[in-house]
Amino acid sequence: MGDREDTLRFLDFDGVLCDSLPECYAVSRTAYWTGFLGLPEPPASVPEEAEFARMRPLIRRGADYLLLHLAMREGLRLVSQGDFDALAAREAERDGLFHDLFYQARSDLLRRDPERWFALNPLYPGIREILLRNRANRAVLILSTKEAPFILAILRHHGVEWEADRVLCSGKESKLRFIDRILSERGARGAVFVDDQVDHFQGPSEHPVRRVLADWGYVRPEWIESGTFETVSLSRLPELLPA
Ligand SMILES: [Mg+2]
Repeated sequence: MGDREDTLRFLDFDGVLCDSLPECYAVSRTAYWTGFLGLPEPPASVPEEAEFARMRPLIRRGADYLLLHLAMREGLRLVSQGDFDALAAREAERDGLFHDLFYQARSDLLRRDPERWFALNPLYPGIREILLRNRANRAVLILSTKEAPFILAILRHHGVEWEADRVLCSGKESKLRFIDRILSERGARGAVFVDDQVDHFQGPSEHPVRRVLADWGYVRPEWIESGTFETVSLSRLPELLPA
């Protein structure tokens, strides 16, 4: 298949292809305690990691993970997207700093202990095979808020040589707007967009974009239970892809 394809497939990375929660917990913890507070990092605890995991579905990008630590330190129990957004608005002026501290801590860990870093970033079962089957299909793209070099490093570690121009980072731009732009640029008709954060599904789109919630990712139970969104299980993900 060539460059021109009617329907593009956009796959989120964290919580769809990669079970990155352990890495994001470790990295954001260091960034928050050492980088932001300037304090020694306390020993990690099982209840803290469980609370971090409970709030994980609410984040959209790397900087947001520091807000989860901030919430835990203040005893704030974030339940809804609205709870999270209120805290993010309160701390808006720290967004750039939190982003830098998060990526600094990530780069440090990768450089200092690559073996541990890769171990903290496993792919979900079967994902490696799905990516290998679609390796040559330029209609299949990875769309993440994560910076692309880290995604490419994880894929390479798992033996998946994926073209660098097929890992797209939306940064702070809305993913739907980003998808619209790519569809226009490539003259594609529409898209299938698989993500685990329903906030990325909100808003208008100039193209038909089928939005599918990955039910194995970092999802809140009510996102599934509401029946508002089409969902897909990991075992049925291949049905949404060309190969
Ligand atoms: Mg995700």
